Amino acid sequence: MKSVPFFNYPHVFTASEDRFIDTFRSVGRRGAFIMQKDLVDFERNLAAYTGAKYAVGVANATDGLQMAFQAGGLKPSEEVIICSHTMVATAAAVHYAGGVPVPVEAGPDHLIDVASIRAAITSRTRAICPTQLNGRTCDMDAIMALAKEHHLDVYEDAAQALGSKFKGKSAGTFGRAACISFYPAKVLGCLGDGGAVLTNEDEIYAKLLLLRDHGRDHTGEVVLWGLNSRLDNLEAAYLDFQLKDYPGVVARRRNIATLYQQRLGSCPQVKLPAAPGAEANHFDIFQNYEIEAEQRDALKDYLKSRGIGTLIQWGGKAVHQFKKLGFSQQLPATDALFTRLLMLPMNMALSDEDVNYVADCIVEFYGR
Ligand SMILES: *Cc1c(COP(=O)(O)O)cnc(C)c1O
Repeated sequence: MKSVPFFNYPHVFTASEDRFIDTFRSVGRRGAFIMQKDLVDFERNLAAYTGAKYAVGVANATDGLQMAFQAGGLKPSEEVIICSHTMVATAAAVHYAGGVPVPVEAGPDHLIDVASIRAAITSRTRAICPTQLNGRTCDMDAIMALAKEHHLDVYEDAAQALGSKFKGKSAGTFGRAACISFYPAKVLGCLGDGGAVLTNEDEIYAKLLLLRDHGRDHTGEVVLWGLNSRLDNLEAAYLDFQLKDYPGVVARRRNIATLYQQRLGSCPQVKLPAAPGAEANHFDIFQNYEIEAEQRDALKDYLKSRGIGTLIQWGGKAVHQFKKLGFSQQLPATDALFTRLLMLPMNMALSDEDVNYVADCIVEFYGR
């Protein structure tokens, strides 16, 4: 039987194995393991690619977002509004920076719902942190206007959205600071954990450099409580190499999304993400291809029986549904959405034939 795994981890490495090994040899023979030239080069190229003034390599996006809040001066008990349809990491970053995460509803495009943000603003609200989910950037005009009206800061969880744009401006460059993730399954993935923080503010940039390296300044003097959260130089070298091919990777993912659209766009039992080019303000990079499906669980089982891997994001739970973390918000729209969400295979190992097979099996399931 044909097999279309949801994600092909070995492919991350084997796709260009020999070229990667040349990179590792170069780093290894120089003994350049921590905060060396490859990291500096990558940070410069990443900043240039996004249009951010600064990019700072960090150990992972979760630490990056926490340090972004800390560098931005989040104070104890201040509330940060997040979308409930995000990784728990977004909430954890707020928590460990001393704040209180306040999850709100996801809207029809699965990203944070602006009316729901407005309804959640209190006297303790300090910031809004939208997640640029599935490789799509929120309507940032609406979010920035709301933030301005209430004197709130904006940060972005852009872990899934490197290169995605709203009105031509890159995810991660709207707010005071943003995190990007290089987890292996992310569109720009490395061979382990990695992340970056983007910012346009000189002061946040200077603080991030201290925070990620034990609070030490360039003389070795410790000037604040820091973390050990550096991006390995070896990973930075690998990422810098991959960044050169990144626009081609995004183009291929958009191409796969177009194929899904062509094959499933008229299937009434599924709701697809906006097709590439369908909405002039949005340039989506398709970190994920997340659909809404009738009889979601039965469809998932059927696809599995046909050799197709699918995934329900976050193990099927929105952040506010993790009651053991103390959340008490009632978010009925998100609860309903989470009975319907399913992610179809979307990765660089897929052939057009694979995508057609997935679509055929979905049509077949609803036609039975
Ligand atoms: C992957 C992801 C993170 C966490 O990234 P790490 O680099 O694994 O810490 C945070 N938020 C979202 C939305 C993610 O998808």
